[in-house]
Amino acid sequence: MIDIKSMSLQEMGDFLQSIGQPAYRAKQVFTWLHKGARSFDEMTNLPKSLRDQLAGSCLLTPPKVARKQVSRLDGTMKYLWELADGNCIESVLMRYHHGNTVCISSQVGCRMGCAFCASTIAGKVRDLTPAEMLDQVLFTQLDSGLEISNIVLMGIGEPMDNFDTVRKFLELVNHPDGMNIGMRHISLSTCGVIPGIRLLGDLGLQLTLSVSLHAPDDETRSRIMPVNRAYPVDELFAACHEYFRKTGRRISFEYAMIDGVNDHDWQADLIAKRLKGMPGHVNLIPLNDVVESPFKPSRRIAAFQKRLESHGLTATVRRSLGGDIDASCGQLRRKAMEEARKGEIPNDGSMEHE
Ligand code: SAH
Repeated sequence: MIDIKSMSLQEMGDFLQSIGQPAYRAKQVFTWLHKGARSFDEMTNLPKSLRDQLAGSCLLTPPKVARKQVSRLDGTMKYLWELADGNCIESVLMRYHHGNTVCISSQVGCRMGCAFCASTIAGKVRDLTPAEMLDQVLFTQLDSGLEISNIVLMGIGEPMDNFDTVRKFLELVNHPDGMNIGMRHISLSTCGVIPGIRLLGDLGLQLTLSVSLHAPDDETRSRIMPVNRAYPVDELFAACHEYFRKTGRRISFEYAMIDGVNDHDWQADLIAKRLKGMPGHVNLIPLNDVVESPFKPSRRIAAFQKRLESHGLTATVRRSLGGDIDASCGQLRRKAMEEARKGEIPNDGSMEHE
């Protein structure tokens, strides 16, 4: 079966022409798919014969809402999507003053092994397809009835470990005949996979690159992020400086504050030293307590922020949303997997919304 929804408009045109259709049909099909059509039968401006032909050769697999949680504190919505093959992924809708932002997953699970992260505990199951990434944005918007204006690739998975898909997804979601979300409204977060940073830099997109730094020294970083053993801090910063030279875009550095591990003043000083020559933004994240992790939230966030600012850096503290609903990466999926294992919920998508 053909994954037509993952195709660009151009590819769709080539495909439709190959089955004897006029080129203008591509735009019709593309528009329907990007408006959230769940079957070819809904595409009423296509001849019935074409609808039947497409239904016979192409796969359309919109995700099902397996679970949905809505925060009573701030309206944050968390979706657990069940994919066609039964795997589950998460998206989170956050309601900021500057617009509704959806945080989406790029893989089922993750193989990066960061010691503090719930998404990676059971490893990677598979990569997502471009359509499965797009559908998270599209169906979050349709289900919630809230218009999405910003996207962050900060859910489950490592985008640079599935780069071709991510590149295609960006093209799809940015397309004027589709959701038309501007690159400046998209952030992509990586744990520091250098070849991906280089490829992305070469594309010269106007999106925001976030680098999950979490420690500026190899000893600490390798301890909490195995990826650092392949791509150490010196090389990571060289790639970041190169990225800035190529794109002119300021990089955002994510820094989850862990008690006694990465919250020392000397580490703030080292961040400043490594950022010299490049406008950087450091986003301090209060560590989310993951049951399986030995790490505790730092009590030095304000002091660390001050220390960074004393070097002239921009440092912000991320406001925590959805504190009442397992809203951080991978936690809802972990919980559902755990419950399914114990036989507490039917893992068939039929469970009630919370
Ligand atoms: N793989 C990508 C994107 C997904 S993770 C990356 O690593 O950047 C999104 C962000 O959440 C990353 O910065 C990640 O390090 C951070 N994160 C993971 N677990 C966390 C936790 N328990 N508390 C705070 N931040 C966490």
